[in-house]
Amino acid sequence: MSWFSGVQQGPPIEVFALTKQFTEDSFPQKVNLGVGAYRSDEGKPWVLPVVRIAEKALANDDSLNKEYLPVLGLEIFSSLSTKMLLGEDSPALTQNKAFGVQCLSGTGALRVGAEFLARKLEKTVFYFSKPTWGNHRLVFLSAGFQDAREYRYWNGETRGLDIDGFLEDLNNAPEGAVIILHACAHNPTGCDPTQEQWKQIASVIKDKKLFPFFDSAYQGFASGDLDKDAWAVRYFVTQGFELFCAQSYAKNFGLYNERTGNLSVVMNNPSEVPAVKSQITLTVRGMYSNPPSHGARIVSHVLSNKELYNQWRDNIKTMSSRIIEMRKRLREELERLGTPGSWNHITDQIGMFSYTGLNEAQSEHMVKKHHIYMLKSGRISMCGLTPSNVEYVAKSINETLST
Ligand code: PMP
Repeated sequence: MSWFSGVQQGPPIEVFALTKQFTEDSFPQKVNLGVGAYRSDEGKPWVLPVVRIAEKALANDDSLNKEYLPVLGLEIFSSLSTKMLLGEDSPALTQNKAFGVQCLSGTGALRVGAEFLARKLEKTVFYFSKPTWGNHRLVFLSAGFQDAREYRYWNGETRGLDIDGFLEDLNNAPEGAVIILHACAHNPTGCDPTQEQWKQIASVIKDKKLFPFFDSAYQGFASGDLDKDAWAVRYFVTQGFELFCAQSYAKNFGLYNERTGNLSVVMNNPSEVPAVKSQITLTVRGMYSNPPSHGARIVSHVLSNKELYNQWRDNIKTMSSRIIEMRKRLREELERLGTPGSWNHITDQIGMFSYTGLNEAQSEHMVKKHHIYMLKSGRISMCGLTPSNVEYVAKSINETLST
């Protein structure tokens, strides 16, 4: 007998399955445009130089030990992270209305926030953009939400934001629904609302009494400027919203496997902060008890040292400028080859990802024929494009669309 005979095979997780296929592929010119991880000009994983510096300093610091961190994580890390998101002199911080919780990267911060909302505030309905990052749905349903709904976001014809559909769907949402919003560099479309559009979105969220839950996985990646990329969240705070924001250091610090993130909580009433903190403490205690320290120490070391902080900003600039440069090169190459269709969306979109417009069959052809690994939705990670492979990728897209 087996307890497990009724377990059915689950579907593979597309982006991890692609990376596995890529690793096993022996084709010399293979390119991985699936996973959102930055690669050096030579196509190799890149550890940020400032991270190497911080790690050396930590290794030499004999005062550090392996004792447990508090349940809510390293205090200095979470407060610096919330400050980075909200800005030095945010009224939410000066009035003690905001705090951070160290979490297991962005995913963990979403999960902790969602668990709290589902179990303590008894929220059941959440909305995510159509399309969105492939994990929002699973994280929120696993946390206890019951009703997953989409709001319109992407207009495939104009290859831009469907702001009217977006606002209409928010307008029809039930009071109290949780709205997941990408803080910047929307994944997968690379298309963000303008500031004017954010104001419209905020106004509907306020009128309809919805709860904004920002997902900030790419601060610094959209514009190369940490403050600019936090504009939407800061705007909501100035408008008096209570909100959550999940922050990830996977991309902007390159700490993918260190699982380093923060849940920023902004509330209206400082006297309610201790109760909320105590409940989040129990939420975390029941899930994983307390977080790991290494990534949080790296980030704290850098954020608390002016010189290293500036170096980090330079490292982000290196990544974001390469991405912008690659967008330009890819578009130029496609246009030079006379590839069918228009390609301005490649340079109009921002951040780590681009929605190429290739359909499922074409995307699969790219994988099978050209060994260029990309999602079926046509999404490519711009971080995987480098000066040494951009021509090959453009040629392959051209071949795919011309046959
Ligand atoms: N949100 C979005 C929109 C993302 O793209 C990602 C990473 N791909 C995450 C959250 C979470 O990433 P991580 O858990 O690695 O920080």
